[in-house]
Amino acid sequence: TMSKQTLSFQTEVAQLLHLVTHSLYSNKDIFLRELISNASDACDKLRFEALNNPALYEDAPNLEIRVSFDPEARTITITDNGVGMSAQEAIDHLGTIAKSGTKEFMNRLSGDQKQDAQLIGQFGVGFYSGFIVADQITVESRRAGLPPEQGVRWTSRGTGDFEVEPITRAQRGTSVILHLREDAQEYLNGWKLKSIISKYSDHIGLPILMEKEEWQDGAPIDPNDEKAGRHPGRMVKTGEWETVNQASALWTRPKKDITDEQYQEFYKAISHDFENPLAWTHNRVEGSTEYIQLLYIPAKAPFDLWNRDKKGGVRLYVKRVFIMDDAEALLPGYLRFVKGVIDSADLPLNVSRELLQESRDVRAIREGNTRRILSLLEDLAKHDKHAPDAEVSPEDKAKEGKYSQFYAEFGAVLKEGLGEDFANRERIAGLLRFASTQSDTVSVSLADYKARMKEGQEAIYYITAENLNAAKNSPQLEIFKKKGIEVLLMTDRVDEWALGYLTEFDGTPLQSVAKGAADLGKLQDEAEKKAAEEAAEAFKPLLAKLKEALKNEVEDVRVSTRLVDSPACLVVKEGGMSTQMARLLKQMGQ
Ligand code: ADP
Ligand code: MG
Repeated sequence: TMSKQTLSFQTEVAQLLHLVTHSLYSNKDIFLRELISNASDACDKLRFEALNNPALYEDAPNLEIRVSFDPEARTITITDNGVGMSAQEAIDHLGTIAKSGTKEFMNRLSGDQKQDAQLIGQFGVGFYSGFIVADQITVESRRAGLPPEQGVRWTSRGTGDFEVEPITRAQRGTSVILHLREDAQEYLNGWKLKSIISKYSDHIGLPILMEKEEWQDGAPIDPNDEKAGRHPGRMVKTGEWETVNQASALWTRPKKDITDEQYQEFYKAISHDFENPLAWTHNRVEGSTEYIQLLYIPAKAPFDLWNRDKKGGVRLYVKRVFIMDDAEALLPGYLRFVKGVIDSADLPLNVSRELLQESRDVRAIREGNTRRILSLLEDLAKHDKHAPDAEVSPEDKAKEGKYSQFYAEFGAVLKEGLGEDFANRERIAGLLRFASTQSDTVSVSLADYKARMKEGQEAIYYITAENLNAAKNSPQLEIFKKKGIEVLLMTDRVDEWALGYLTEFDGTPLQSVAKGAADLGKLQDEAEKKAAEEAAEAFKPLLAKLKEALKNEVEDVRVSTRLVDSPACLVVKEGGMSTQMARLLKQMGQ
């Protein structure tokens, strides 16, 4: 067995702790949400482990969380009878940050308090948020299945190090004891704690208990003189505990019983986001595969959206039992920004990641989720802008501008779907928005474009470039400008790759203006065609000379009708790699 030892926090933890206490100051209340969420996670874990080992419940099968406070000692204690921690687990889990992308996250911090608070929130400060209100935290725990003598006490002042020592603890589970800072004494108040719990933690499926309090009038100042008055009264604890939350998991409740604010707070709790979500969809899906689906679209992209190791945002439950919190199999990669909960009625409780990949039910859920999110996006897109005189319900009115906001944050990710999700390609294509020679803002849909096509125009023209300016000023656009033909301007890094998968939209081919002869087809009149042919003939000797001089550089030299002001431009042969793609590959070192 071990004795008392002092250990240092991992460097990142020390840095994070410093930031937490300094940047999250205006969001103090969240400490309770985080600690209750850990308590609830611990109960979920116990329930899961007990599926194969019911003895872990010992003599306390009713999982619960208790919150109490002690005005004299100036402490708040959050106790759960969940899975608990062994000494080694306390050292590992409370002394290091195991999350991937920790380094990247640290590098992103700017020193600007408000901005950093957002980022820290996204990253999920979890347990360390206790230090926003506490100058010392004591954790006492005993892992389910271990004997009482193998309990552990972990203590820290949230600076460089922490202490661990063995204790005897009869009760399974964990108590987190916060020694409140001088300026956080306001939390020593039952009413205040209750109101925070009902705001932030009402969705928790387990009972959260607090000791009932009762008003007690002060004693008479002088028992012999009624008129002398009484000492001030106070709230006193009654020894009776009551449940202060609804104690039913939010997603299991009927929609009509859930307020927008409750949906929003639940989102914040599972996503660690500070902002409200942009939109959500909540459904009970019935049929051959039954499940509850509560999915959210965030308002802002997370800092690690492009991190490939990033965990997904969907939690999987099976019949209310928590199974895993990053069930990638439940959504395709291009919807990785979606957060939420799936609660399946059909999957086995012992489902593993491997099994998830192969399960038919999972495939059905994944397809259902995908369709649901695409519908949600289509609905937002439809109501992004209303005509000034349109009659619009307040509900639809509230959707204005949301799709543009979504697209600015996640449009580039959505495009990955063109290459990833063939079944929904047409729907994804319908959701794309671009800038064009007629619109500086990224707002032109392929359908808008089609509606504006010139008589005789047979293709949707686009150009890819590094930025909007480069795209707009490309000599390849000259003839299109002259003829008033709209060209989509694509500047996302993924465009070149993604558009490779979209050869046509609604029956009209897409064509890069940088490729091949950029045949204008019927848009070119007879006179122009004839002039071009004559020029080609007349310039034959010159072309031959140029071709000889540039033979190591280019494959062909042609007379072109696409230029108006510029003397020459580079094009890529049909089916070849575009200049933008070549540049991209070069950047990546290929
Ligand atoms: P997260 O909850 O995202 O994993 P936290 O910082 O909130 O991150 O918690 C860190 C870890 O500490 C948890 O993953 C868990 O292993 C452990 N932990 C925290 N609180 C408890 C608790 N009440 N019971 C058991 N383990 C806990
Ligand atoms: Mg946590």
